[in-house]
Amino acid sequence: MKRISPSIRATSLSQHNTSVVFANIFYNGPITQREISRISGLSFTTVASIVSGLEKRGVVEHSTESSTNGGRPSAIYRRNSTYRYVIGIEAQHDRFRLIVSDLAGHTISQSTTSFDKRIGKEGFLELLLRQIRDQIDIHKGDTNRFLGVGIGVGGLVNPKDDTVSILPHLPNWGSISLRESVEREFQLKVSIQNNSAAAALGELWYGLGRGKKNFLFINVRDGIGMGIVLNGELYRGTTGTAGEFGHITVDDRGPVCTCGNVGCLETLTSVPALVQSAKNLIADGVTSAINDMSNGDNDSVTFQMLVDASKQGDKLAYKLFTDAGRYLGEGVVSLVNLLNPELIIIGGDFVQTGQLVLESIKDVLIRQALELPRKAVEVVFSELGENASALGSAVPIIQEFVASPVSV
Ligand SMILES: [Zn+2]
Repeated sequence: MKRISPSIRATSLSQHNTSVVFANIFYNGPITQREISRISGLSFTTVASIVSGLEKRGVVEHSTESSTNGGRPSAIYRRNSTYRYVIGIEAQHDRFRLIVSDLAGHTISQSTTSFDKRIGKEGFLELLLRQIRDQIDIHKGDTNRFLGVGIGVGGLVNPKDDTVSILPHLPNWGSISLRESVEREFQLKVSIQNNSAAAALGELWYGLGRGKKNFLFINVRDGIGMGIVLNGELYRGTTGTAGEFGHITVDDRGPVCTCGNVGCLETLTSVPALVQSAKNLIADGVTSAINDMSNGDNDSVTFQMLVDASKQGDKLAYKLFTDAGRYLGEGVVSLVNLLNPELIIIGGDFVQTGQLVLESIKDVLIRQALELPRKAVEVVFSELGENASALGSAVPIIQEFVASPVSV
């Protein structure tokens, strides 16, 4: 049985019982009424009456299957995953990834939109709302088809009012009330969280984190974020900002970071840091296939060029990625020693880099981590890839629905 349990927020006993029954079908189904009764402690009659109501509303469905021990065939119930859809979004400073999924995380429709960060706060909001509208329009413009919108942002989210500081990668933006804007426009429930925390939830529900108790998701993009799952639940910390892995100091004489400190991990291994290092080395006269790819225009060097060059065996790209893996690895050693996770999932743009970075991280881990926790941990690339964060952003919307199915 799954450990994920709903936070029950019901206003009456019958609502509470409905939530308990629905949660059992949603998380543990397919399941019989008798099993629900046994797990929940509710009488069989109560369970049967609630299940019948849920089935009439189309939230759950049943099929009749023979019992394995040769007894009478009994009805088994499962969630109706297409009862409603959710919209999950990863909002970065230069791109939106939108996924409309059903309640089992299957992608129904999707879009990715890139933009220039100079569009500013208003332009960012306007474009985001238009992208959501476009997805709703694919589904006949019917907002009732959706339970809500989840947004994972590359910034700090204040859990008290859901305001987002899309800092530090969009300087001078101040904070944004994303939730309010989206709620007002579509009259849908909206959930906002950090994109790396969202990605960890995505992995916990749909990816390599399924069934895992303690794992970390390291998200390498413009910055380096992390989602922490402890005892099967996302750990958000006291101010909701846990996981700022990119701001641990790895080189006290390193470059100045956007956070104001010096030599933070993300000043050395994030996507822009690696692109900048490649540009600097090429400008210093180091020969590389990257220079051919950019036709000698150092300003147009991209991360994709570094990835392509590394796959061709380019020495400069090889060095950049193995160094990046080494720096990341040193951070990972501390995480393994501190938190003793069973799995570390590397995601974000580094998924494209192939085994190079992964091998480099593992080398450091073998050399430096304490033996016992090191032997218990696996380091892998995300299989959900660029979808982890968008899918996970919508998980709180689904959790809320499961906890209170009567309100929909
Ligand atoms: Zn920093």
